[in-house]
Amino acid sequence: MDKKIQMVDLHGQYLKIKPEVDRGIQEVIDTCAFINGPQVKEFAEKLKEYSGAKHVITCANGTDALQIALMALDLKPGDEVIVPAFTYVASAEVIGLLGLTPVMVDVDPETFNVTAGNIKNAISPRTRAIIPVHLFGQSCDMEPIMKLAKENSLYVIEDNAQAIGSVYTFSDGTKRHTGTIGTIGCTSFFPSKNLGCYGDGGAIFTNDDTLAEKLHMIANHGQKIKYHHSVIGCNSRLDTIQAVVLNAKLPHLDEYCAARKAAADYYTEHLKNVKGILVPGELPASTHVYHQYTLRVLDGRRDELKEFLASKGIPAMIYYPLPLQRQEAFRHITRAAESLGISQQLADSVLSLPIHTELTHDQQDIIIAAVKEFFNM
Ligand SMILES: *Cc1c(COP(=O)(O)O)cnc(C)c1O
Repeated sequence: MDKKIQMVDLHGQYLKIKPEVDRGIQEVIDTCAFINGPQVKEFAEKLKEYSGAKHVITCANGTDALQIALMALDLKPGDEVIVPAFTYVASAEVIGLLGLTPVMVDVDPETFNVTAGNIKNAISPRTRAIIPVHLFGQSCDMEPIMKLAKENSLYVIEDNAQAIGSVYTFSDGTKRHTGTIGTIGCTSFFPSKNLGCYGDGGAIFTNDDTLAEKLHMIANHGQKIKYHHSVIGCNSRLDTIQAVVLNAKLPHLDEYCAARKAAADYYTEHLKNVKGILVPGELPASTHVYHQYTLRVLDGRRDELKEFLASKGIPAMIYYPLPLQRQEAFRHITRAAESLGISQQLADSVLSLPIHTELTHDQQDIIIAAVKEFFNM
């Protein structure tokens, strides 16, 4: 064992695509095409092809993607948007920012994802949209969610920041990439995401021509013709330098996902029988691209296990320590539809182990042995 164990190893991954990345970045500098260089359009085209979405609109980050998506739907203050309580804050933050009301719902404890069952009870006459979050790398069970949305005339905005590359299979056999199933899909290219650039970046997916035009306009100061602003928009662009990195990485995305899945399978094989933890559950209808490999630690021993691992030089992270209903910022604007007990329970018990494309079996063996040692196995 030579290399220090890290939660992610972006440098190791970079070394494998270094010539292409270095050359591409130098070219952007030489041509000074920092904003809207041809590489940005090239990436949007390639991502369209990869995902099967009819339209891809690139933007500055995943949070902007969600905000722009909500802005395109002409919602009114007080309209309700359903969001899982167990997620990263961005999924709900944009709802509050636009003067809409986030309605938090609980999630399934085994997949960490929101289900149609969770959503159903939260629908009120003011509900206009649902934001299913494909947490930790696998799709929510989208078929029943889409059916429920259709029955209630609700928009569906997929938060696909953690699951790009994952594929959902409908009961008739139709396969769709996550992010291309709902009304609009949003993703993030934050460096540690499964398709990460070397700074901030994001993208929006839709199969709707009218919405695509609107999303483009909103991301670009509400203009279609330069200096003619027909709606209030924002300034949200993907940098050309980031597009270079993404162009180099996109052809490897499936391979990156497969490496993460193989690492996850290795963990599960060796940890599934350890008493005191539960390994993550997989939804049969979705592939899992393991943005995170997240255990549930039983008997209130999560923090103790985290410290034990740290004492052996093994990092582990808590995603997320507070469910949304416990976040101060949301206290006054939210309507909680139910008790949200599962989200609280998860926040108290989850622990994510290192997982990335460069993780070796030797490193995993050390991590697995340490977990087993903690539980006296
Ligand atoms: C990372 C992330 C976002 C936000 O992406 P940024 O690019 O950091 O703005 C949104 N939702 C989820 C679930 C995320 O993990």
